[in-house]
Amino acid sequence: MGHRVGFVPTMGALHQGHVSLIQRAKAETSLVMCSIFVNPTQFNDPEDLKKYPRNTAWDVKLLTTAGCDVLFLPSTQEIYPPGLKTGLSLDFGSLEEVMEGIFRPGHFDGVAQVVKRLLDIVQPHRLYMGQKDYQQFTIVASMLEQLDSDIELVMCPIVREADGLAMSSRNVRLQPQYRKVAPKIYQTLQWARETAKKALPAQIRKEAVDRLNGPGLKVEYFEIVDGQTLQPIEQFADAETVVACTAVWAGEVRLIDNIIIKN
Ligand code: AMP
Repeated sequence: MGHRVGFVPTMGALHQGHVSLIQRAKAETSLVMCSIFVNPTQFNDPEDLKKYPRNTAWDVKLLTTAGCDVLFLPSTQEIYPPGLKTGLSLDFGSLEEVMEGIFRPGHFDGVAQVVKRLLDIVQPHRLYMGQKDYQQFTIVASMLEQLDSDIELVMCPIVREADGLAMSSRNVRLQPQYRKVAPKIYQTLQWARETAKKALPAQIRKEAVDRLNGPGLKVEYFEIVDGQTLQPIEQFADAETVVACTAVWAGEVRLIDNIIIKN
């Protein structure tokens, strides 16, 4: 049997969350490839793209110790050569009409475009992605299904800081007063999971927003959704998988996080 290629696409500024994906791929495949590419087409806000942290020397060190076999560090020209048609005619339906899809218009078209392009180049057997970007994972799963792809998509759990904040490349941009209050996001998600036993999704949603909004934090959305369709649910019995997803501004940094309430 030949190599089984495991692939971990990233945008760099790597942390232990990324490392966990590499390690999982290492354990399950014979050749681990990681890509670092800050994809311009998935940024709806040019300022966000400009400020996105970049640190290739650090990334290479981390990848070496994590056991990554091949790093793919393409230029924008390589991913989007002039004349190459990379637009896709995929239909994500209502999956992209909620949450990130509302607040980051065009974001998922950019994600699908770059993931498709990377998969065409790398041709992996398995694709490792994080639960951290739950909606992104669902969109990529839908894309693979629509393309009738044989690539196996693997969801890896969210890696957190000791105080519960989900690791993110954007965390380095948090100023101390915002970093201090940011763990409230995970605390509120945990509270939502606990409270699911005794309250309705709508009640939890409302109180979660009240708990989160305050000095340093401003909620963009907090939704309790069907983990497959991503549509908000009215009762916990309405869906097999239930996920609470949130996006919160901590100063000028937008943080997303989620928790699986029921699986
Ligand atoms: P990014 O570099 O932010 O595009 O992320 C690359 C991959 O790492 C995506 O599949 C993310 O979902 C995943 N990821 C990001 N943060 C975490 C985390 N804290 N724990 C686990 N996976 C993560």
